[in-house]
Amino acid sequence: MQVSYLDLKQLNISKEEVLKKAFENVLKSGWFILGEAVDKFEKEFSLFTQTKYCIGVANGLDALILSLKVLNIGEGDEVIVPSNTYIATWLAVSYVGATPIPVEPNIYTYNINTALIEEKISHKTKAIIPVNLYGQAAELEDIRNIAIKYNLYVIEDNAQSQGASYKDKPTGSWGDINATSFYPGKNLGALGDGGAVTTDNEELSQKIRVVRNYGSQKKYYNEIKGVNSRLDELQAAFLSEKLKYLSAENEERVRLAKVYDEELKNVGDLILPQISCNATSVYHIYLVRTKQRDELQNHLTNRNIGTVIHYPIPPHLQEAYQELGYKRGDFPLAEEIAETCLSIPLYPGLSAEQQGFVIEAIRQFFN
Ligand SMILES: *Cc1c(COP(=O)(O)O)cnc(C)c1O
Repeated sequence: MQVSYLDLKQLNISKEEVLKKAFENVLKSGWFILGEAVDKFEKEFSLFTQTKYCIGVANGLDALILSLKVLNIGEGDEVIVPSNTYIATWLAVSYVGATPIPVEPNIYTYNINTALIEEKISHKTKAIIPVNLYGQAAELEDIRNIAIKYNLYVIEDNAQSQGASYKDKPTGSWGDINATSFYPGKNLGALGDGGAVTTDNEELSQKIRVVRNYGSQKKYYNEIKGVNSRLDELQAAFLSEKLKYLSAENEERVRLAKVYDEELKNVGDLILPQISCNATSVYHIYLVRTKQRDELQNHLTNRNIGTVIHYPIPPHLQEAYQELGYKRGDFPLAEEIAETCLSIPLYPGLSAEQQGFVIEAIRQFFN
């Protein structure tokens, strides 16, 4: 048997008919940029996240960058970010000229440790970017309260958690402005790049609309220096179709996670994902930890089971961030997670037989 880490091909082919129809509609419309399909998807996704406005953009990194831009965050400003995250969160801050200020994770949920945020706030701090990592909502209410207390903005990075919630309120709706990604491997993935910004703030939504399209509302009249970061009609049409399946697919992820939770507990030194009582997870990633990570990964590779390390090097130790002068030991929890984590196969369509094969192989390793 072979179990790939993620079967994107099957996941999309299972929707072949509706995706082909979506393609046909766009082809026949003859309109490919900022038309009806983008409008329609933006309305659907704002409903899904229970926000007033959604603006489609080219990718998740741009969604973060444009959010920072319209909040006028830039040179000389500081932005609180998790030390344990995908590097895109940090890159967005750097790209607008601000400095990322890392905060260590809670070692149980792997999300930013809310109790450590206040000590990192300075007179330069402008915003906090909580990331709902691996599918689980961060402590979004506490983070919002800290932001209110210090007059900071919250920008949610919801790239990994479409459909999760905190205290029954959807992720992607807690920040002043929220960013998400439709990279093909995300829970809601396009057939190419895509992203979106969601917000309840009309003024911010208008600014994003203008800045994503060359800084112009009326063609060839440019109010500000904008960029080209638009969601394609074609991707929007695919996303409208795929959004219909998202809740059921997220439920399937949760069901598969429960099977792993049950079957892998007390196996070796494995640490399984833990979900905080106020949060839900849509299990973008099922991440386990063990001191024997590399050996376990080899063992699974030899049995044709795909795994991924999310992520092997935390942002502060990446070559790209040498300028900040961090060294090994500065963020020990982020480093420990990087050294011990392994993501095992979990996706809609993973069969009971395949999952059983993965479980058996892991148990065998620890015996
Ligand atoms: C994927 C991801 C992004 C960036 O999304 P892209 O669409 O690839 O630019 C940002 N933040 C996190 C946490 C992500 O996982």
